[in-house]
Amino acid sequence: MIGAGPAGLGAAWQLCRQQKGDAIVLEKLGQLGGNTGSMEIAGIPVDFGSHRLHPACDTHILNDLRKLLGDDLLDRPRHGRIRLRGRWIHFPLKPIDLVMRLPWSFGFGVACDSLKKFFSSGHVQGAESFATVLHAGLGHTICEDFYFPYARKIWGEEPEALSAIQARRRVSAGSLGKMVRKVLSAVPGLKPPGAGRFYYLRKGFGQICDSIAQAAKDEGADIRLNASVNKIEVGRPHQIHVRKDKADVIIEADYVWSTIPLGILSKIVSPTPDETVRKAADSLQSRAMVLVYLVLEQSQFTPFDAHYFPEAHIKLTRLSEPKNYSARSEPSDCTVLCGEVPCRLGDEVWSATDDNLGDMMRDALDRSGLPVRCRVRQVVTRRLPHAYPIYLSGYENHFQTLDDWSSTLEHVLTFGRQGLFAHDNTHHALAMAYAAVDCLSSDGAFDKTRWASYREAFRSHVVED
Ligand SMILES: Cc1cc2nc3c(=O)[nH]c(=O)nc-3n(C[C@H](O)[C@H](O)[C@H](O)COP(=O)(O)OP(=O)(O)OC[C@H]3O[C@@H](n4cnc5c(N)ncnc54)[C@H](O)[C@@H]3O)c2cc1C
Repeated sequence: MIGAGPAGLGAAWQLCRQQKGDAIVLEKLGQLGGNTGSMEIAGIPVDFGSHRLHPACDTHILNDLRKLLGDDLLDRPRHGRIRLRGRWIHFPLKPIDLVMRLPWSFGFGVACDSLKKFFSSGHVQGAESFATVLHAGLGHTICEDFYFPYARKIWGEEPEALSAIQARRRVSAGSLGKMVRKVLSAVPGLKPPGAGRFYYLRKGFGQICDSIAQAAKDEGADIRLNASVNKIEVGRPHQIHVRKDKADVIIEADYVWSTIPLGILSKIVSPTPDETVRKAADSLQSRAMVLVYLVLEQSQFTPFDAHYFPEAHIKLTRLSEPKNYSARSEPSDCTVLCGEVPCRLGDEVWSATDDNLGDMMRDALDRSGLPVRCRVRQVVTRRLPHAYPIYLSGYENHFQTLDDWSSTLEHVLTFGRQGLFAHDNTHHALAMAYAAVDCLSSDGAFDKTRWASYREAFRSHVVED
């Protein structure tokens, strides 16, 4: 397995547990979990941006996690806020809160958009894009005040340049009807199970992968950190070139299951793919992210778990307070805030110093009416090179080229969020891992037809926010 995020670790665990083979997991970083990992700052476990386990998780997987994590798997109410035209609206949306707090101009705009939609043919003119799909589904006001400015910040692209697929996969409330159903799902009596709640871990979200890794090790998996795969010679067996602790090692394996970005995989496989594949790899782009953590000398900053900032003049997309995710009260003399700043690899945000990023975060909080009034003890930053896939219009052709190429490689499988260039949540990455192992029989045969039907099912994954 290449990569020790939920996809790679989940697959190693299931493979060893079901005694279908031996697993070696190779992870280039010095820690487990990929983007779902955690670290400790000032005695508080913090995640790499706001992470929650969604109740939409497959029951079978959730039951496994319950057994693994016991009482450390917490069932928590969601308590976030979105900033809309200078007002704070509860997120997930609640009917009473909307009536009390929604700026009247916004409500009037949505009402007019609904009327227009009622009398329009619903036909979208011109080529479909993220912008046209959401405009047709949600109307001008919600798009211009929330989704479009948020999209510009998250993906760094104009909504018109983004694919319609991005709207369908990434926006779970993509029409006014769905939005109304979401709001109504907060009403007692109409609430479906799990609505407005999430699972979290006592020691931070990274506890999921830490526990899976331990369970995989207990079943015999060999997990190697600081082990960067830089070449794969495809053959029987495959020769995997690994840079580990400044030394080069070659590992032989019957199968390579990769969860690293598909474009990167195409660059480290030998024989080298043709130019069309190489060009497709260069055309698939990911958004990077800088995470800025402020250690504040106060017990709690706000009672909210997350704040969402669609407005363009506020650099952050989201602010989370990790202590609130697990209702942790200790340490009592400080709390940590985590700001998410999407960017491009190497741009001015990515290259900024910790001091500058700390100032930028304080400025963003000032602008949003949440000024930091206590002493900031420390600024810590963390960089994610592959935070979000960017679905530019036409990206699917490039993905298809790469996917077709990877499927020609015998005994090589690519999956996970990076491996399938999907927006997927952690529970989707775990579902892919379980599916991959399900397709492998104990004699080493891989059922490609079954995998194809799983791949079809993965297309229906909708990201939960
Ligand atoms: C800001 C943010 C917030 C999110 N919030 C949520 C949330 O609330 N809930 C949720 O369910 N999901 C959330 N997600 C999504 C979640 O993080 C992903 O679904 C999950 O990380 C996917 O797991 P994965 O194993 O497929 O990939 P990854 O976690 O990306 O793991 C891939 C691993 O491969 C390693 N790797 C790369 N190249 C090499 C190499 N050459 N050799 C060896 N190893 C290599 C990487 O270091 C990494 O550890 C969020 C993501 C982000 C960015």
